[in-house]
Amino acid sequence: MQNMIHQKKCKYNLQEILEIPILKVAERLDLKPKNKKALCFNHNDTNPSLSFSPEKNLFKCFVCGIKGNVINLVMSRLGCDKATAIQYLGKNFILNIQYDIDNRKIENKHIIKKTSNKEYDFNTILWNQDVYKYVFEITYLEGEGLEYLATVKKFEKELLVTLNIKYISDGSNFIDQMLKRFDIKRLQMAGLYKQTYSKQLWHKVILFPYYNLDNKICNITRRFVNNPKLKFLNLHSIKTIPYNFHIINTMKKGEKLFICEGITDTIAMLQKSKKAIGISGASSFKEEFVRELINFNIIVVPDNDVAGNGFYNDIKNKFQLYNKSVTRLIFDKNKKDIWDYFYA
Ligand SMILES: [Zn+2]
Repeated sequence: MQNMIHQKKCKYNLQEILEIPILKVAERLDLKPKNKKALCFNHNDTNPSLSFSPEKNLFKCFVCGIKGNVINLVMSRLGCDKATAIQYLGKNFILNIQYDIDNRKIENKHIIKKTSNKEYDFNTILWNQDVYKYVFEITYLEGEGLEYLATVKKFEKELLVTLNIKYISDGSNFIDQMLKRFDIKRLQMAGLYKQTYSKQLWHKVILFPYYNLDNKICNITRRFVNNPKLKFLNLHSIKTIPYNFHIINTMKKGEKLFICEGITDTIAMLQKSKKAIGISGASSFKEEFVRELINFNIIVVPDNDVAGNGFYNDIKNKFQLYNKSVTRLIFDKNKKDIWDYFYA
């Protein structure tokens, strides 16, 4: 999906894009401009320092200095490249030519288009990435989270840092910080809450980010450190991909790739210098992943239990659809899983 977006050629007229009213763009980007001013999204702003000039169709922040035209505004707000920003503006504000010719009564061509499902998807992905990026900017690998991973799980800090694993010690403080930057709806859309937001669901949690093949964060799994009712929790209604999936970007054809059951086992393998990805849940391995993994030497690492057998069979069957065989990693039957085998 992401690759498709980047490869798509831009079909919009640049001049037309640059003339889209900057205040309309700011509204669409949820900056809530009032009297040509808004809170700056690029620095921790308390007084509106972001200023818009509808005459020049430019924006500028008088504190952090960020400035530019509508394309620059979209790029910095969504953290995307120029081609993606142009596409975003075109899709949101410019009607296609056919439509203009057919409907001569339309006087203002810069109207906000009704978004189809497909465009909603496209915007959502970019919008969510902005939210997730911020989550990992305001959190740290520290406290009980680090202690649990380092002492109980015996993971090396250096590896944890590389994987960008973080910890939230205070759920209330975290939610307050998120709400200063984004509105509730946006956080709901990104799957941070269902309907009502719960500080409890972000309290004392380890955060594991999921990177897509464009190396952008597209999902988060939480691991509760001391909530007896909950262990792992995923974002609400957000599409999942394998944990550490983007490692395949660094791999050569025929190289060994270990498919593990869950995040802990994946990190256990990574710490043994193996290339590994993680699947959470026995039947979460999707056929679409096979197409990305078909060129590697696949070794499945299931737990030594009934669910583990199901996990292995499910993956084996999905690869078989593509005439590809996989290997099962066999280890001491007295050990529950591969983490147990290496570190318990
Ligand atoms: Zn600023």
